[in-house]
Amino acid sequence: MNFSYPRQIRLPDGSVMPFINLDNAASTQPLDIVAQKTAEFLSYYSSVHRGSGYLSELSTRAFEEARQQLFAFVGASPELDTAIFVKNTTEAINKLANRFEWLPDDVVIISEMEHHSNDLPWRKKARVVKARVDISGALDLDDLRVKIREHAANLKLVAITGASNVTGYINDLRAIARLAHTYGAPLLVDAAQLAPHRRIHMMPHDHPEHLDFIAFSGHKMYAPFGCGVLIGPKEFFQTGAPDYCGGGTVRSVTKDSVIWAPPPERDEAGSPNVVGAVAMGIAAAVLSKTGMRQVALHEQRLLEKLLAGLRRIPNLTLYGSAFAGPNRLGVVAFNIQGLHHLSAARALAGEAGISVRNGCFCAHPYVHRLLDLSPEEIAHYSKLAGQGNLAVVPGMVRISIGLYNNENDIEKAIAAIEELEQNPRHYAQ
Ligand code: PLP
Repeated sequence: MNFSYPRQIRLPDGSVMPFINLDNAASTQPLDIVAQKTAEFLSYYSSVHRGSGYLSELSTRAFEEARQQLFAFVGASPELDTAIFVKNTTEAINKLANRFEWLPDDVVIISEMEHHSNDLPWRKKARVVKARVDISGALDLDDLRVKIREHAANLKLVAITGASNVTGYINDLRAIARLAHTYGAPLLVDAAQLAPHRRIHMMPHDHPEHLDFIAFSGHKMYAPFGCGVLIGPKEFFQTGAPDYCGGGTVRSVTKDSVIWAPPPERDEAGSPNVVGAVAMGIAAAVLSKTGMRQVALHEQRLLEKLLAGLRRIPNLTLYGSAFAGPNRLGVVAFNIQGLHHLSAARALAGEAGISVRNGCFCAHPYVHRLLDLSPEEIAHYSKLAGQGNLAVVPGMVRISIGLYNNENDIEKAIAAIEELEQNPRHYAQ
């Protein structure tokens, strides 16, 4: 893998610090090639769809091309699907939740490993039932099957993450799609973590393993912040009013009537983030050209090296599986005995210039489960967190690998963690 990204940062005092980004599950840095191509477009962007000038035509073409690049990236159908540009995965999932017509008894089945963004939007609309994870944190497919069967009569949707942002586990989307469709429910895949690291194929609409809806974010796949996408059947978005309305969403407005535009315009209220969409399309094209197999192989090698190094460190607890494998992304959560996760993350940044993440990673119930907290402990820490006392709340440290990381990054991370483990008192704050 030969991708470059900035590896030094200039501090306010003018000094230059090298750094290593191992917090890619939160946000990736733009690849140089993505930044460069996006910068070229920056000089020409204009509003889309509504202008007849050269700039507007050029921007409209680039914006629409981005949709096609994203369709190709996930194997969606340009004829049957629509790609709605939104801010991020969170907005995409909220949009979908807002666009269903809900009945009082409707059920949405999710799993215990979901990010809050694929949990809370459903709680506002329906009864949420969670499929269990097993002792190691992997999705229990048998329990999912039982729950789908049990709630089939009221089942509106199955909404499952493609991969966990805590343990890196990749879910068997084909099996899940088959299960959901057997009982007549559509499937949403939260692909925020999966999309930048594995090939996704939504499959033909009439295939039992078809992924009905998919959501992911640009800033986790080497494009800038502010753009994400919701892809799903045109037919679904063809009816009903959009959740946000205003400019761009209509065909016609009179004093007392509205004719909504067809998808995707109906669901893209206001002037869209054209630059963000173009950058996301560029990033998708770069990833596709690189080959997601190559991306996966590279990250897999680094993950094996990282886990082998961490397994050798005493007093270090790994959460989820301690081993790499084809069904696992380069995401590793751990704790060092005697060192709070916040202190560990700060020490890695301060002493070694290594960016990682700590806390509960917006997946509190899953992290509580992996930490084996009792209901009393959860209630206690939840109360403290509610009072703003976040520093004492249990959590983990998370390393997450991106395609620009290399063996040297992993060796430095292992060495820095070894140092913390040997002198926890020195780094405790
Ligand atoms: N889903 C998963 C699995 C994630 O890891 C994240 C972010 O970390 C999200 C959803 C939310 O993504 P965004 O913050 O881009 O909306």
